[in-house]
Amino acid sequence: MSDQNRQEENLIIIGGGPGGLSASIYAARNGVAPLVLNGPEPGGQITTTSELENYPGFPDPIGGFELTQKMTEQAENFGVRLKYESAEEVDFSGDKFTVKTEAGEYIADSIIIATGAEPKTLGLEKEGSLRGNGVSYCATCDAAFFRNKEVAIVGGGDTALWESTFLAKFASKVYILHRRDKFRGAKILGDRVKAKENIEILWNTEVKSLKGEKKLEGIRIFNNNTDEERVLDVDGLFVAIGHQPRTECLNDQIELDDYGYILTDKKQHTNIPGVYSCGDVQDPDYRQVVIAAGSGAKAAIEASEYVEKKENSFPAKKVKMKNHPEAGQDNSEEEKEEGGLSLSLSLD
Ligand code: NAP
Repeated sequence: MSDQNRQEENLIIIGGGPGGLSASIYAARNGVAPLVLNGPEPGGQITTTSELENYPGFPDPIGGFELTQKMTEQAENFGVRLKYESAEEVDFSGDKFTVKTEAGEYIADSIIIATGAEPKTLGLEKEGSLRGNGVSYCATCDAAFFRNKEVAIVGGGDTALWESTFLAKFASKVYILHRRDKFRGAKILGDRVKAKENIEILWNTEVKSLKGEKKLEGIRIFNNNTDEERVLDVDGLFVAIGHQPRTECLNDQIELDDYGYILTDKKQHTNIPGVYSCGDVQDPDYRQVVIAAGSGAKAAIEASEYVEKKENSFPAKKVKMKNHPEAGQDNSEEEKEEGGLSLSLSLD
C-alpha cells in the first residue's frame, strides 16, 4: 500500500479502555486530535466489572460499562475519534509508525499502546469448548445465569475474592478453590468472603478435570497436600487467576518484561522514542482503573510533547468539540487550524 492510501494521524491510541480513553482526553485537550483504535467491543476489561467502589468521584458504586460510556462520551466531547477496529500488525521501525487493522492502514507520528490484559485460563481439557457453557472468566458478567445453583471459583487474589461475594448474591453455594492455604488478595475482601454463609473455601485445592460435553456438569478437584480427589456437582466454574497482557500485535518490536508486560519508564516511554504505553498492558502490579487512567494521562502528555517537537509531524487534524462550553457560541464546533499543532500542555 502506498503512503497515499494510508490515513495519516498525529497520534494513534491502540485500545479503548480507561488507559486509552484517558490518554485520548488529555491528548485532545492538548490540541492533538487522537484516533483511538478501540477493538470490536467498547471499553476493555473494565466493562466486565459490574461495580467499582474505588474509582474517585463516585460515592456510590458505578458499573464498569457505565464508567466506560461516560469516559467515551467525555472523549468524544473533546473531538476524539474512535474506530471499532483492532490493530493487527504494527511497524515501529521507521520515523513514522504504521498500524494495520482489518479495515485499513494508518501511519502516525506517535503511538500509545493501551491494549490491556486478558484473563488467564487453567489449561484444562474441554475448558475452551465449555467456555460460555458453564465455564466463565467473568463472574460479574455471568453470575445471574447461576441463580440458585452451585458454582466454584478458582483463585485467591482480589478478583476471586470480590467475584465470589458477587456470585454469592445469586448462587445458592459458592466454593472458592485456592491452590494455597492463604489468600493473596486484600484482607478486607478475605474477611467478607469468610463472613458469607453460602461461601465455602477449599484450601490447597485445584481442578483436575471438567465433567460434561455440551455444558459443564461438574468438576473433579484434588487436594494438592493429600492428593485426595472428589467431584463437585457445580453448574458453573469461574476462573479468576489473573491476566495476560495483550501484546500479540507488537511483533516483538517493544521490550517486554519477563511476564510479557510492556516495559515503560516513569513517564510511560517504551524503548522506542515516540511510542508510549499505559494501562494494564504495562502494569503487572496494580491493574486498577484509576491507575490505568493516570498512566494514560501521563502517556498523552508525553506523546503530545513529542508530536509538537517532531520536525516533520503531519498537519494537525481539526478538533471538533461537542457538548462542551468551549465548543463555541456561534458555531457548535470549535475547529483548530491545520498545519501545526496548537499545543498547550496543562497538568490540570
Ligand atoms: P492475582 O492477584 O495475580 O491473583 C491470581 C490468583 O490466582 C492467585 O491467588 C494465584 O494463586 C491464583 N492462580 C494463578 N494461576 C493459577 C493456576 N494456574 N491455577 C490455580 N490458581 C492460580 O490476580 P487478580 O486477583 O486478578 O488481581 C489482579 C490485580 O487486580 C491485583 O493487583 C489486584 O489487587 C487487582 N484487583 C483489585 C480489585 C479491587 O477491588 N480493588 C479487584 C480485582 C482485582 P497464588 O496466590 O498461589 O499465586
